[in-house]
Amino acid sequence: MITVENLIGGKFSTTEELLDDISPASGEIIASIPRTKSIDDAVSAGLGALESWGGLSMNERADWLDKIANTLESRIDELARLEALDTGKPIDIALNIDAKRSISNFRFFADFGRKLPAENFVMDDATNFVIRKPVGLVGLISPWNLPLYLLSWKIAPALLMGNCIIAKPSEITPLTAHFLARVCTDMGLPDGVLNIVHGLGPEVGHAIVSHPDIKAISFTGGTATGRIVAATAAPMFKKLSLELGGKNASIILDDADLAITIPGVVRASFLNSGQICLCGSRVLVHEDIYEEFLPKYLKAVADFKIGPVINADHAQKILSYIELAKEEGGIILAGGNRIDQPGSWIEPTVIGGLSHLCRTATEEIFGPVVTIHKFSSDDEAIQMANCTEYGLAGSVWSQTRGMEVAKQIESGMVWVNTWLHRDLRVPFGGIKNSGVGREGGMWSIGFFSEAVNICEMQH
Ligand code: NAD
Repeated sequence: MITVENLIGGKFSTTEELLDDISPASGEIIASIPRTKSIDDAVSAGLGALESWGGLSMNERADWLDKIANTLESRIDELARLEALDTGKPIDIALNIDAKRSISNFRFFADFGRKLPAENFVMDDATNFVIRKPVGLVGLISPWNLPLYLLSWKIAPALLMGNCIIAKPSEITPLTAHFLARVCTDMGLPDGVLNIVHGLGPEVGHAIVSHPDIKAISFTGGTATGRIVAATAAPMFKKLSLELGGKNASIILDDADLAITIPGVVRASFLNSGQICLCGSRVLVHEDIYEEFLPKYLKAVADFKIGPVINADHAQKILSYIELAKEEGGIILAGGNRIDQPGSWIEPTVIGGLSHLCRTATEEIFGPVVTIHKFSSDDEAIQMANCTEYGLAGSVWSQTRGMEVAKQIESGMVWVNTWLHRDLRVPFGGIKNSGVGREGGMWSIGFFSEAVNICEMQH
């Protein structure tokens, strides 16, 4: 049994009331976490540390990020084990995706900060100097599907740009944020720079979003929660970054190379049990290759190993969508059932025979469930891909026309003949109801700083 505590002003503490953290793989209680309601102490600690942290040079803060990366790396197996325990994902995914990416988030922003070019604009008679000041105390809120991966993606650039932080990981997966807190205090990160508070979204999450001294909110989570966060933060003119849900399409054109397409689309469908915001939960296939594609795809699905889904409530939601699909006329082509073992396990499920406009095919399920649809022209595929309220990501599989089709997909990110191939310099984020703003490279630097222009006249 692990005890998770809040990190506030360099000290660990807990609350009288506690919450249980439950293993998705076994259903057992694995940790207790604080049920924090007030963040006043964390705000005081963060405000108190702002001046000295913001006063360090970019290179000094980059050195801190590298130190964090190095320590996490030296304990990578422990980090991966905790993430696998908390999320139920297979250990190789926790190691090779979650743990490695959490480390590279710190390393990437350290490097990026050291190489930031001067932003000067010379006029005939004057020079403009753009300087980047910290925003101040920032609130970072993250979901359960890629716990430290997504939280460190916010923490690293926020620290780099001189901000102090109040971070709230998902109450469903608090273990690796606590591990990071221990790592940072062990290495002597100044008190109050990174505060991590645990608890429920509508309680401690809301306290962060609504606190007047917190000047920016970076939120990753569901679209419905994002709407509440926006409604609370916007009237206070906080900077706001929202990374929300998706219902992404994998589009397989008639000239796709199936040898790379099948494994790529199966991975896009079911990696992390379909619990990645970028997963391709709608598979759109050209009618001329559908008969060849389908058996090969189903065979590869049967061979793809997945873990449990995050908890019993989420499993229930996913199963209710499978029932809805049947009512909507869907035909279960693979899976469709709970796996009878402790924890929350659902078979990888493929559903055919549905209209691309039905609820199952347009609402985010966020589990190991995909719907498969036929189309007869590129234009029809584009129309089908663009028919939902979401606009996060997508992939196009074609030997000749991928780029052409990709440009017409209404989403923030599109891959051609690959999926989830990431370069941390590029903009990451969604359009439509998938979010507001972008993270990554210069976009994170811009969000976590106030760009101030000083224009100096030459007389
Ligand atoms: P969620 O919206 O339920 O919770 C996300 C976080 O917000 C949690 O820490 C939660 O405690 C907190 N929260 C909940 N209510 C709050 C409130 N009223 N005020 C402030 N904070 C609150 O999402 P989830 O179920 O943890 O994650 C799954 C969702 O996240 C999916 O919709 C998925 O698509 C999305 N997601 C998006 C991205 C992206 O980059 N766009 C990445 C991963 C996950």
